[in-house]
Amino acid sequence: MLQTHGRRVDHLRLSVTDRCGLRCVYCMPFGEPPHAPREEILSFEEMATVVRRLHDEYGLTRVRITGGEPLVRPQLHRLIAQLDRIGLEEISMTTNGQVLARSMDALREAGLSRLNISLDSLDPDRYRRTTGGDLTRTLEGIEAADRSGLRPLKINTVVLRGENEEEIEDLTSWALERGYEIRFLELMAIGCVQDVHANLFVPTREVRERLGRSFALEPLEGEPGAPARIWSAKRDGVEGTVGFISPETEPFCTSCRRLRLTAKGKFLGCIMHDDGPDIRPALRAPGGFDPDAFDAAVRQAVGSKPIDRVYVSWGHMMSIGG
Ligand code: SAM
Ligand code: SF4
Repeated sequence: MLQTHGRRVDHLRLSVTDRCGLRCVYCMPFGEPPHAPREEILSFEEMATVVRRLHDEYGLTRVRITGGEPLVRPQLHRLIAQLDRIGLEEISMTTNGQVLARSMDALREAGLSRLNISLDSLDPDRYRRTTGGDLTRTLEGIEAADRSGLRPLKINTVVLRGENEEEIEDLTSWALERGYEIRFLELMAIGCVQDVHANLFVPTREVRERLGRSFALEPLEGEPGAPARIWSAKRDGVEGTVGFISPETEPFCTSCRRLRLTAKGKFLGCIMHDDGPDIRPALRAPGGFDPDAFDAAVRQAVGSKPIDRVYVSWGHMMSIGG
């Protein structure tokens, strides 16, 4: 079992691509960073090799697939099927939902356990303005995920000043009425978002206060190591769970159990790190897989996990894997 500063490190954020069809203002406000050439990106087989060794040798229990947008990677269900054979407790994915509807059945059949879908607005114009995407397609993706029966179904909403902050109550009602858990995320100052961060940032305290004026909110016991603080929310006979992810004002670094693997094969100990040990030499060694090089990279990444919050990163969320 991997441990650092007394905490287990048994969850992996696996970024399968640094590409995305959307242009969210908080992820790449000034356009897309240069993509890595395809040969630099790990193959599904290489990703599965990493996950298998982390599971077999280091006690990895959960994998969350992310990116970029994971579903721009063709045949993603094939990776999930490979991961499913490893014996993990959970394989989840975060997606913008734009092309989810057409692949939902294949993903579930391959072994996907559950989904987080990003949805910042129920207003088509605002959705297009802040993400560059088509709201209808994401809603169709959410409906497909709902029909698939995977639970819990979580909605991720990054709260932005002057934009969707006025939709906090509507988004919450919409989610609770359908039985989804909505999670409000604080904007993180990653990469070029730093230039617009002060103007767009809304602290969780404000979101909770605003929600508390129309919903009865009660704190719930959260899962150890989970980033979200969970509350029950109730209004007009509708009841459910709301999460708050507050990396800026209520950091959860001391209990963070995550290791990250970028699409280019860099292990990162923290989302605020923009570089880390490269796993590709171990995977692509001339004589075949090199376990010693692999283990050294894992130890270096786990050892790099900070205890205190790092507040500024010049990395790109797209390349780090959100
Ligand atoms: N493309 C997928 C999506 O949007 O769901 C997965 C990758 S995205 C980087 C993962 C999550 O990070 C999304 O929920 C997105 O809203 C969130 N995110 C991106 N940039 C962020 C930032 N600067 N601060 C907080 N959350 C951010
Ligand atoms: Fe794409 Fe997700 Fe970044 Fe938006 S947050 S630009 S959907 S990777």
